[in-house]
Amino acid sequence: DHLVRIENVDMRYGGEGGVLAVSGLNIAVEKGEFAAVVGPSGCGKSTLMRLVTGLHIPQTGSVVVAGQQVTKPVSIVGMAFQNPTMLPWRTTLDNILLPLEIVDKHRKRLRAHKAEYVAQAERLLEIVGLKGFGDKFPWQLSGGMQQRANLCRALIHEPELLMLDEPFGALDAFTREELWQVIRDLHAQQDVTIVLVTHDLREAVYLADRVFVMSARPGRVLHEHKIDFPRPRE
Ligand code: ADP
Ligand code: ADP
Repeated sequence: DHLVRIENVDMRYGGEGGVLAVSGLNIAVEKGEFAAVVGPSGCGKSTLMRLVTGLHIPQTGSVVVAGQQVTKPVSIVGMAFQNPTMLPWRTTLDNILLPLEIVDKHRKRLRAHKAEYVAQAERLLEIVGLKGFGDKFPWQLSGGMQQRANLCRALIHEPELLMLDEPFGALDAFTREELWQVIRDLHAQQDVTIVLVTHDLREAVYLADRVFVMSARPGRVLHEHKIDFPRPRE
């Protein structure tokens, strides 16, 4: 049962004669899986993110997420990027609740059931090792802590799919490896499918159940590996 299915997708920027960013792209991710897409800069990783979230519609081929053909931007996907952008005048907790205020459906529920969402935010904060930091402001948190909070924010609306675009790229090596454990804990404890886009092969192999290796110009999948050896757990 696939949550994400990309079939024979071509994505060209700038119309006829423009840049063929990806061509003949095929990627299928099973529900509950942790998938990684790894490849050099320019291979189409950001393009892939935008195809899955409906920010781009491909000229050729199909993108299906949760059984639905993607034809417009979708809100069932959570996203986290390299640089967490938290609002400095809001506490960590209120930053985590932010996505709920943007989507209509959630805004109404947030008003009626604020305590439940706060409890959910606190549960997520605990999983990522930030128990008790909900009332701190972003400037009181280190970069790694902000990225942990950022992951909570991406998960607060309980998305079926979490897309991570180089989420650990800006962190030092020690902090990055701590975050690897955090993201694995989140995957183990939340009912969520994860697609991680990275240029770090070691990170991909350490984290994912399935790794897609892409080549550039035009971007396409060269290899797909199912990873089923046990990896160290703390
Ligand atoms: P990655 O994220 O792997 O670096 P991108 O998806 O950003 O790759 O880009 C894939 C290819 O498409 C690159 O050759 C890039 O220059 C090109 N590209 C990306 N976005 C645009 C755009 N908006 N207009 C034109 N070309 C683009
Ligand atoms: P990354 O490799 O981290 O994805 P890039 O530097 O490739 O970042 O791209 C940054 C932004 O510039 C992206 O939004 C991408 O769509 C856009 N972009 C990349 N290449 C081109 C291009 N040739 N023409 C126009 N926009 C581009």
